[in-house]
Amino acid sequence: MLFENPTIKEILKHYRVIWALGHARGLMGWDSETYMPRMGVEERSIAAAEIAVLSQKLLLEPKFVELVEKASSMEGLNEYERGVVRVLERAIRIYKKLPPSLVAEKAATSQKAKAVWREAKEKNDFDMFKPYLAKLVELNRQTAEYLGYEEHPYDALLDLYEEGLKTREMERIYDAIIPASRSVLEKVLEEGYYPQHHPLEDERYDAKALEEVNRRILDLLGYPWDRGRLDVSAHPFTSGIGVRDVRITTRYEGFDFKRSLLAVIHEYGHALYNLQIDERFIATPLAGGASMGVHESQSRFWENMIGRTRVFVETMYPLLREKLPFLEKYEAEEVYRYFNTVRPSLIRVEADEVTYNFHTLLRFELEKQLITGEISVDEVPELWADTLDRFLGVKPRSHAEGVLQDIHWSMGAMGYFPTYTLGNVIAAQLRAHILRELPNLDELVRNAEFKPIQEWLREKIHRWGSMYPPQELLAKKLGEPLNPEYFAKYLVEKYVDKRI
Ligand code: MG
Repeated sequence: MLFENPTIKEILKHYRVIWALGHARGLMGWDSETYMPRMGVEERSIAAAEIAVLSQKLLLEPKFVELVEKASSMEGLNEYERGVVRVLERAIRIYKKLPPSLVAEKAATSQKAKAVWREAKEKNDFDMFKPYLAKLVELNRQTAEYLGYEEHPYDALLDLYEEGLKTREMERIYDAIIPASRSVLEKVLEEGYYPQHHPLEDERYDAKALEEVNRRILDLLGYPWDRGRLDVSAHPFTSGIGVRDVRITTRYEGFDFKRSLLAVIHEYGHALYNLQIDERFIATPLAGGASMGVHESQSRFWENMIGRTRVFVETMYPLLREKLPFLEKYEAEEVYRYFNTVRPSLIRVEADEVTYNFHTLLRFELEKQLITGEISVDEVPELWADTLDRFLGVKPRSHAEGVLQDIHWSMGAMGYFPTYTLGNVIAAQLRAHILRELPNLDELVRNAEFKPIQEWLREKIHRWGSMYPPQELLAKKLGEPLNPEYFAKYLVEKYVDKRI
């Protein structure tokens, strides 16, 4: 038994109800993005909000908090038990420090802000969204003050998404990857081997045929259909409802088939993480990932470091060619180049591996300055355009493709974007470590033998769930701390040396 200590056992018994509410909310969230009738949205959001309040209440019940505090000062807990205490203490600390009135105001504001943002984006009207953005910045500033920080108020916000991450550390990461990304980008644009545009982006596909391809690829990757599903949603996502119920989605836009296919592989990476968590963690606080960044590293690893490789494309080529007749005109190498177009662009979610991190850096810089009050929301569109111009030499022609493109700010999420870059950086580090133990990685992919890769990820990352904070997990299991140099090297190896 993992959990022997009587106090821990009591904690887990109480926690089961909180877990059950989370389970229900997970299913409700999945449903509202897939099959819920459109008119169900209002009742669904009332129900979801009530359940959120209820689970917060259960988490902060004095009897429960006391038990967690008691366990926290206990000696002789095993590593699993200490993990349970750490996760719960952190959740309690965050909830306790934030006054309920602030939490409620943030929820209500973002509920409205999301609707306004949608309309503002459609109408390309930043002024419409501006008061909501200003309010959400102010609420985030207050959040940082209540949570407390040592160096930078933004530290407190980063920590909400990535336990322990500091502004200074994130700056160090960007310093390590941005100059390298810039020089790789210049080289790629000069050479033109990885094209800025590829004619396959305009080829129209039959959605049924592509769905068959996607399902076949998931078969080859070993996605367990008795523990998962593939459905359609406006934006692809993964829903980890339980360790044995992990569902993914993609979308079919009718052209540029890699968007749908690579989204499937991306979400598969997220799903595999949840599916390989130690089953003894079911219904405990450990049955989740280590952090947003570590989770994203799993999706990025499979999407980019498997899915976009030459050997993977070559392996899948016969299948693609069979189901997508327009590929008759294109050899495997062409499909590989199509999977890896590189261009300075305006939209983060469409950005390639070389330019992606410039987009999160832009948001990181703006968010930091908004939180300290160095800049006001009025200045954001112009600063956005100027910074992107400086980074990538492109300027948005509208607010919709500039400051209004992402949903995150309307949801009140500030401090979230850097975790995407963290995911890219961790993925490159994992790849380097996998290669040390599986130097025949290419061979494995060529034979569609993904099991050894999955097993490696299970042992190093997945099985541990949320037992360790992200930095500790990496240090423990890789034998070295997070190191962004791997990402810089990876970009050169792939895009300059063309060896991946
Ligand atoms: Mg993701």
